[in-house]
Amino acid sequence: MDRHEGFGELTGPGSLGQRTLLWAFAVSLAANAVAAVLNFGWASIPTLLGGWYLADLASGLVHMALDYRPCPPGKRLADLYFYEGSRESPEYLAMLRDRMSRVSAFDRLVYDFKNHHPRPHALGRRDLWRQIGSTVVIGALPMSLMLNLAMMVAPVPGWLCAGLFAAIAGGGFAQYFHGTLHRDQNPWFINAMRRANLLMTPAAHQLHHDSLQRDFATNSGWSNPVINRLFNALRTRGYLDDEGLVPNA
Ligand SMILES: [Zn+2]
Ligand SMILES: [Zn+2]
Repeated sequence: MDRHEGFGELTGPGSLGQRTLLWAFAVSLAANAVAAVLNFGWASIPTLLGGWYLADLASGLVHMALDYRPCPPGKRLADLYFYEGSRESPEYLAMLRDRMSRVSAFDRLVYDFKNHHPRPHALGRRDLWRQIGSTVVIGALPMSLMLNLAMMVAPVPGWLCAGLFAAIAGGGFAQYFHGTLHRDQNPWFINAMRRANLLMTPAAHQLHHDSLQRDFATNSGWSNPVINRLFNALRTRGYLDDEGLVPNA
């Protein structure tokens, strides 16, 4: 089994700062969940499903954009991508350290999406921070804290609270859910959510890996029909060229 953990190989599992941010997200999200339950009404059901759909849509749009966004030229990321020796060798790790130091955090993310295609199981082995850290810091944690704050200063309707909770939770954990599609053993709640069709199955996600031209959403997959139509429309207009799928310089 290959082992490519990307930048996480260098940083090791969970620094104190990373763990603090994940805990802050968990506590903030739990507070929003409690508020959604306490203010639950019939109108909360469609907004919960709507929020869950939006999170799936976001997972798919980001995935599509980053799969096809070209890696920055001249940074020699192709050396890493096409490396044929052991990915635990000192030579490879030194190269990884060097190449990753040349690019921005955003371009590391872009590289990771491409690297995921030939080495899908690496994502399932990564720790939670490597999977969702950037999503939490950039989007999910600020949004969750804003909802906490909004509820402290004004009454937020229960239906809105439920919808936003579903969108933030689904968006924040999107790459964790993607990771569960590339792992044999998962917690019970993942299997339960799959049975309830709230999460997609590995077989459904395999359709993405087979062609890289469809089914980019990785949460429930509910938004894939819409994203597939968008993908095809963009391709016919000359966007999303195959060139962007692999680092070539
Ligand atoms: Zn992909
Ligand atoms: Zn995948």
